[in-house]
Amino acid sequence: MKAFKHITANSVEEAIALIRTHNGKACLIAGGTDLLGVLKDEILPDYPAAVINIKTIPELDHIKKNNDGLKIGPLTKLADVVAHPLIKKRFSCLSQAAAAVATPEIRNMATLGGNLCQDTRCWYYRYPQHVGGRIMCHRKGKGPCQAVKGDNRYHAIMGAKVCFAVCPSDTAIALSALDAELEITGSQGVRNVSLNEFFTTLGNILKPDELLTNIQIPYPPKGAKQAFLKFTLRKPVDFAIASVASVITMQDGICKAARIVLGAVAPTPVRATDAEASIIGKAADGVVIEEAAEAAMAGAKPMRMNAYKVEITKTLIKRALLSIFQ
Ligand SMILES: Cc1cc2nc3c(=O)[nH]c(=O)nc-3n(C[C@H](O)[C@H](O)[C@H](O)COP(=O)(O)OP(=O)(O)OC[C@H]3O[C@@H](n4cnc5c(N)ncnc54)[C@H](O)[C@@H]3O)c2cc1C
Ligand code: SF4
Repeated sequence: MKAFKHITANSVEEAIALIRTHNGKACLIAGGTDLLGVLKDEILPDYPAAVINIKTIPELDHIKKNNDGLKIGPLTKLADVVAHPLIKKRFSCLSQAAAAVATPEIRNMATLGGNLCQDTRCWYYRYPQHVGGRIMCHRKGKGPCQAVKGDNRYHAIMGAKVCFAVCPSDTAIALSALDAELEITGSQGVRNVSLNEFFTTLGNILKPDELLTNIQIPYPPKGAKQAFLKFTLRKPVDFAIASVASVITMQDGICKAARIVLGAVAPTPVRATDAEASIIGKAADGVVIEEAAEAAMAGAKPMRMNAYKVEITKTLIKRALLSIFQ
């Protein structure tokens, strides 16, 4: 690994000042489980002069109840998200999504903020510099998307135009189903955006001198039932081929409200609004569930090698809804 300066920040203000001092040649490190791989393999043409450690900012590590719901600091470890009793009880799809990330060892290091901000896992993008040279592509600012003509079996089946890499974050899918809001702090002040506004087709909206400083999740309606399901090729540890998070409110056997979000099918989390509309106001039965899965995938445009992801996603949607409706 090439050398870089490692600087510790003790407050959000100090972290922002340090980024600015290094004129875009610095990056933030939280748990380091994603960033250190990116640096070690030198996958990006620009290597940072400095890495700013934010693990030492105490106000970013907390799980607090407030009137609106739950506030989670981005430095909260995934293991703590998994184990927290209130998250297990009222925000169970987030607890399940965090538990589905990587291994216990990684979850003890990895943070929720890092999970949301992690870089893409497209295998062309991640190709190591020391094994024959890094691969450039549209997302790296030079050349076409290599996945279009190449091996695209794990790439997007909807919502992509120029980069077909999928959003790798498991917790983003659950947080989108829970309608979470993110607080972003930078040199220009603080702004709040919904989880879905945060992600873009080439990553996220963070400016170079901004960091994620809070995750606010509203309480789901009383009695809302939740599910998070993830399909992987390797069972013990793997990124999703497809995932589904859903938060459904039933009353007297009728679906009153629904949020269904799909993961690993597009560059961003995808809200399956047609599927939601197809179940609201209806009693749950096999036909309704089947129609919801079809509606969710109606707009899918698989690439040459990944049509199988359409059927897997439909199956996950049906299983998630069945687990809620039973
Ligand atoms: C073997 C392996 C398996 C994995 N499996 C999964 C998986 O199944 N599902 C999954 O979702 N992920 C997986 N990951 C990816 C990753 O390790 C985790 O997502 C982890 O949560 C990243 O958190 P971190 O704190 O280690 O991030 P870091 O590596 O410290 O940071 C990742 C990125 O986020 C930025 N960042 C971190 N915190 C902030 C902040 N507060 N504000 C702004 N930017 C920030 C960093 O600058 C960096 O660019 C896996 C990783 C490995 C190595
Ligand atoms: S999918 Fe995106 S990251 Fe992968 S090669 Fe294409 S442009 Fe690059």
